[in-house]
Amino acid sequence: MLVDALGKLLAANRLGWGAFVAVGLRRHGLTRYRRGGESDLLALPAVFVDLDNPTSDALARLRGLRPAPSCITFTGGGYHAYWWLDEPLADMGLARRMLRGLQRGANSDPLSPVQSLRLVGSRNTKPGRDNAFCQIVEMYDSYHRLEIFSPLLSRLTTQPASPPSRRRTTYHPTSRGTTINPAVLHAVSDQLIHIGYVQQSDWLSGPCLYPGHHQHGDVHHSFGFNVRTGYGNCFRCGSILLKDICHTLGIQPADYGGLFV
Ligand SMILES: [Zn+2]
Repeated sequence: MLVDALGKLLAANRLGWGAFVAVGLRRHGLTRYRRGGESDLLALPAVFVDLDNPTSDALARLRGLRPAPSCITFTGGGYHAYWWLDEPLADMGLARRMLRGLQRGANSDPLSPVQSLRLVGSRNTKPGRDNAFCQIVEMYDSYHRLEIFSPLLSRLTTQPASPPSRRRTTYHPTSRGTTINPAVLHAVSDQLIHIGYVQQSDWLSGPCLYPGHHQHGDVHHSFGFNVRTGYGNCFRCGSILLKDICHTLGIQPADYGGLFV
């Protein structure tokens, strides 16, 4: 079944769609195009970083991290590093802190535990990546105990805690003085491009994120996301707020400093 799914994924990749794999084990019930949110995650078998920098300096930085990565892959646009864990991590709060600690160490992009990453063996379909072949640079049979990451976590104790208001984030498009956080817009745009959305001026278009609302799973691509305003619009579902799009994609605005700046 896995071989079959991989075959289909790589066939879609050959047609120009990005191929991604999510590290975290999901609960059952997620449908197509749904990466799910943190509540859909059961456990992470590995922690990881995404370094959007293809230089040899970037690779050296990853190799210099301690603990040393179990695996480094080249994605065309940069490198991913993975650390296998000796047992799956179910505490997502801890997972988030570990990812942040590694991100700081690698000076890489912020990632959430629900992140999906470009699949080794696929081509990088992002514009400007020349259809690069995603491949393993090095891989070791090294499994890490959680405690070995604690130096990365302790450095974070001086950081301010997450604001308690994160669960009450609301959307006020008409409020004065509220600007959508460009980092959130960027994260959403990036994720949509990852899953094959196509950009035309301010709009990214692709299949609706809510295929269940559509009779045939939205084969005609009626969904558009405005990269400037953060609004989503589907011919069938109507307009969709950024916070709901974030939720569907498993992006937590709080990880980027909130929905507004
Ligand atoms: Zn729709």
